[in-house]
Amino acid sequence: MRAYIPSYQLVTPPSLGEALDVLAADNGVWRPFAGGTDLMVLLEAGKLPHKNYLNIWNLKELRGIEVTGQHVTLGGLTTYTEVQQEKVLQKEFPMLCQAASETGGLAIQNRGTLGGNIVNASPAADSPPALLAYDAELELRSHKGERWVPYHEFHTGYKQMIIRPDELLTRIRLPRVPGTLQHYYRKVGTRKAQAISKVCFAGTALVRDRTIDDLRIALGSVAPVPLRCVKTEEALRGSELNQTTIDRATAVLADEVVPIDDIRSTSNYRHRVSLNLLEDFLQQLRA
Ligand SMILES: Cc1cc2nc3c(=O)[nH]c(=O)nc-3n(C[C@H](O)[C@H](O)[C@H](O)COP(=O)(O)OP(=O)(O)OC[C@H]3O[C@@H](n4cnc5c(N)ncnc54)[C@H](O)[C@@H]3O)c2cc1C
Repeated sequence: MRAYIPSYQLVTPPSLGEALDVLAADNGVWRPFAGGTDLMVLLEAGKLPHKNYLNIWNLKELRGIEVTGQHVTLGGLTTYTEVQQEKVLQKEFPMLCQAASETGGLAIQNRGTLGGNIVNASPAADSPPALLAYDAELELRSHKGERWVPYHEFHTGYKQMIIRPDELLTRIRLPRVPGTLQHYYRKVGTRKAQAISKVCFAGTALVRDRTIDDLRIALGSVAPVPLRCVKTEEALRGSELNQTTIDRATAVLADEVVPIDDIRSTSNYRHRVSLNLLEDFLQQLRA
């Protein structure tokens, strides 16, 4: 059943201040509409119950990529195409570029935004694992001011988040890491392009003298939220890279991921693939 279009409203505020005023005045009545690549699918399927949308596509405050000595900060409306084109992201945050290049086709990459991917809150989304592994922070802004929150605290349950109805996700900040960070990103889907993930794995590590100084591991499609695997990280941090360490970490990850069966895959398959990807990541670090 297709949606009845005249029952929907879309307003376009001219500035960020006015957009935030609208969100504050009618708490929860208006919801952001960015690239629309998630929302339009629901609309077409007649599954978009909420009727009032705030078009934020033209808000210049949510655009652009800023590079300082310590951070790379992306506007919430940064598209996948823009992510892939940015040199500093290609060099220092390649997993985000890879996630962007493997998200949908060109039309989706030109229109879909990182902010929309995060707030849509699908556990199967492709950029969240990379953002978690890079320890991203999010700027949430309302008419009262802004707050920065660590991304790993943002998702609290399936499609549940700490963002309030009067807030927009305005910026995404990535800390630049001195030293030689190693990156490992794998999206496992039904086919190589234009597939929704069955499992998505992102890992970063700093290895010195065959010892894991630091690392971060995040997975998609294995829990109700994009999952930062802190217990597995704990099991690995400070350890020597050998087969005993790898086996121990794999056993910890086996308890940490709790995938479900759905139309795209089975729990068993996702579980097995998650462990295989961890092993592959660690064997590559070892090599
Ligand atoms: C054919 C197709 C293929 C796709 N392939 C992939 C894929 O491979 N991997 C993947 O991860 N995703 C994929 N997607 C999903 C989608 O493209 C992404 O999730 C995209 O990043 C959503 O961004 P958007 O700007 O279009 O969000 P919208 O549809 O505009 O919004 C999505 C949600 O986020 C909210 N929102 C958006 N921006 C903000 C903001 N700044 N602040 C607060 N709330 C906000 C909206 O209110 C809405 O609830 C695909 C979609 C399609 C149609």
